[in-house]
Formats: sequence, structure tokens, C-alpha cells
Amino acid sequence: MDFEKILWAVLVLVVLGLVLGLLIAVVSKVFKVEEDTRVEEVLALLPGANCGGCGFPGCSGMADAIVNNGANPRNCKPIKQEKVDEINSLMTKFNEDQQNQ
Ligand code: SF4
Repeated sequence: MDFEKILWAVLVLVVLGLVLGLLIAVVSKVFKVEEDTRVEEVLALLPGANCGGCGFPGCSGMADAIVNNGANPRNCKPIKQEKVDEINSLMTKFNEDQQNQ
């Protein structure tokens, strides 16, 4: 009798786990947020201090502003000139790619 209850409990938990797992998989597909890979590339070149010295809430905000609003990477206080040059080259490449599409 007790063994039967345990089996039912295990069965219910397994079915519940499978249903919820499937639900999570479907929801993650439906509500997937597409990341802009250009922002990630620019973010990788910023110092990553998240100090807010640029006027944005962090480096990701600054990267987004550089890519989408043409913010100047020089507004980042601790950035080195070589990284500014790399970001400017990257932005030139992005703009050329956009014009070729
Ligand atoms: S000033 Fe530079 S290091 Fe600081 S949050 Fe802005 S982008 Fe990041």
C-alpha cells in the first residue's frame, strides 16, 4: 500500500518535471531576445569598470550608445587610445557592412 503511494508520488513528480521542462523550453523559444552582436563586440573593447563615468549606467549602456546612437568612445574615462581606435575601426566596418546590404 505504501509502496503504491510512493510510486504515484514519483510518477506525479516525473510527469510534472517533464511538463514544466517542456513549458520552459517553449517559453524560452517564444520570448527569446535577439542580442545585437555588434554591441557585444564593442563591449568587449571597453574597460569593463562599469564606473558610470561616461554618463551611462555601465559599459553595456555605453556600448549600446556607441553602436546605436553614435556616442563617442572617448567619453569613457579610463579607456586607452588604442581601444578607442579599435572601436572606431569596428564602427567603420559595421557602417560599411550596413551600406553593402
Ligand atoms: S566610463 Fe568606461 S569603464 Fe566606466 S562605465 Fe563608461 S564605458 Fe564603462
